[in-house]
Amino acid sequence: MRIDIISVLPELLCSPFDHSIVKRARDKGLLEIYLHDLKDYGKGKHRQVDDYAYGGGAGMVLMVEPVFNCIKNLKSERDYDEVIFTAPDGQLLNQGLANELSLRKNIIILCGHYKGVDERVREHLITREISIGDYVLSGGELAAAVITDAIGRLLPGVLNDETSALTDSFQDDLIAPPVYTRPAEFNGWKVPDVLVSGHQKKIDEWRMAESEKRTAQRRPGLL
Ligand code: SAH
Repeated sequence: MRIDIISVLPELLCSPFDHSIVKRARDKGLLEIYLHDLKDYGKGKHRQVDDYAYGGGAGMVLMVEPVFNCIKNLKSERDYDEVIFTAPDGQLLNQGLANELSLRKNIIILCGHYKGVDERVREHLITREISIGDYVLSGGELAAAVITDAIGRLLPGVLNDETSALTDSFQDDLIAPPVYTRPAEFNGWKVPDVLVSGHQKKIDEWRMAESEKRTAQRRPGLL
C-alpha cells in the first residue's frame, strides 16, 4: 500500500513513521509513505500556499491552486483510491474505517492547516473527510499520522502474529480483555489465578467474559 501525505509542515511527520510497527511495515515493503511539502507547489518566490479568508475574519486559508497542482501531479503518476482530507467535521475514524482503508492500494491524505482549506478543494478534489475526534488540532499532520498508523498495522504481514490485530479492541466489536505479565504478584497485587492456571480453555473463557464485561461498561454502544 502507498500513502502520500500532503502538508505545509512535512517535518512534523518524519518521526512518527520511523519507529515500531509502521517502520517495520515500511522496512518490509508492505507500506510506502511519501511526504509532500505543499510549499513546493506554492506561488511565487515566497512559495505562498495560504491567504486571507474572503469575507474577513482571523486565520489564513490554504489556497486551492497549490493543492490542485500537487494532487494533479500525484494523479499523473498513478491512480488513487481515495483523496482524504483531515477535518474535525469529517467522518469519525474508527476500527471499521481503518479496516476498510487498509484494503486500498493508493491513498492521498491532505493535511489542513491554519483556518482550513479553501472549500473548493473539499468539493472537487476530496473523496473522503476524516476526523480523529471531536476536538480541534492545530493541523492535520497528527491526524494523518494516526490514520496511517491505524491502517498500517492492519496490512497483512505487518504484525508478526497475524492474529494479534484480530484480538485487539474493536475488531469484533469488543474491547480487548486486560493483560498481565510477570511477576505474578507485585506489591500484593495479584494476577488473576486463571491466567497462571495453564488451562487454556478456561483462560479463553475468562478473556471472552472480561471482554464482554468491559465492552458493556466502557462502550455499551458496540454490543
Ligand atoms: N477552522 C476549522 C479548524 C481548523 S484546524 C474548524 O473550525 O473546523 C486546522 C486543520 O487541522 C484542519 O483543517 C484539519 O485539517 C486539521 N484538524 C483539526 N482538528 C482535526 C481533527 N479532529 N481531526 C482531523 N483533522 C483535524
